[in-house]
Amino acid sequence: MENDFTLDEALLEKLNRYTRKPVSAQEVYTFPVILCDNEIDRDGERFSVPALERLAELFVGKTGIFDHDPKGENQTARIFDCGVKTLSDRLTAAGEPYTCLVAKAYMMRTDRSKDLIAEIEGGIKKEVSVGCSVGRKLCSVCGADLRENPCGHIKGKYYDGKLCSVILDEPTDAYEWSFVAVPAQRNAGVTKTYGAGAAADDIKALKSELSRCEEQNFRACELLKREIMSLSFLCRPIMAVETVRTLTESLSFSQLEKMYSALKDRCSREDVSFQLERKTPETSGGENSSFKL
Ligand SMILES: [Zn+2]
Repeated sequence: MENDFTLDEALLEKLNRYTRKPVSAQEVYTFPVILCDNEIDRDGERFSVPALERLAELFVGKTGIFDHDPKGENQTARIFDCGVKTLSDRLTAAGEPYTCLVAKAYMMRTDRSKDLIAEIEGGIKKEVSVGCSVGRKLCSVCGADLRENPCGHIKGKYYDGKLCSVILDEPTDAYEWSFVAVPAQRNAGVTKTYGAGAAADDIKALKSELSRCEEQNFRACELLKREIMSLSFLCRPIMAVETVRTLTESLSFSQLEKMYSALKDRCSREDVSFQLERKTPETSGGENSSFKL
């Protein structure tokens, strides 16, 4: 797809809205950038066409960063024009005409930007990452708003011959674009980060991490209870084994730990000769702790 353009008077005028003082065509280097498109990306997500149209307005004037300069001297370019382009003869995996967001960017020609310009000219720096917030994420199969009302459809699966994807809709802000090494979108080389969406996803990740921790805590407690039962049996406690069992039910992990070490001390004082082989929850899978006598 040809997106090259000539910096004519009208475009130079647009560009000069973003410079501190008016510049001539010779002082700037301009280049086209495909920011994102409506193709399903590797996360199973795609922008709706109206979302791309809104992003075209939001991205004008936004600065992009070339962030993998090993010297750490980040260089920037700015978008001075942006529009949506549709190729009617090419369909996306969802069966829509391929539509992308094409931006025109500029950077000042300086000694420092010389190498970077040569790389862009040579087609080396092609991958672009965009950061934006979207107001809604929709299921492509049933149209459900996935934040408000998640449905059971799974992205990447087919339903009645239609590939399920998550439609990114109603962008609320576009805050950055940058050149990165690994592209998420197959065509444009685009990765996305989201404001509100990212926060919601973080919360989901934290919740699942929390339930994983609770599960591990539960398994560790069960393991300690079993060991306490065995020790009580071994060192002839005052209490009946059944009483010990009831007692351990209400104890926290650290209380169980204290009880366990107290019992262990007592067992060694009583000179009960035994060998204890204890497995950690990780290696035993929380199932068995075995004792050798
Ligand atoms: Zn659905």
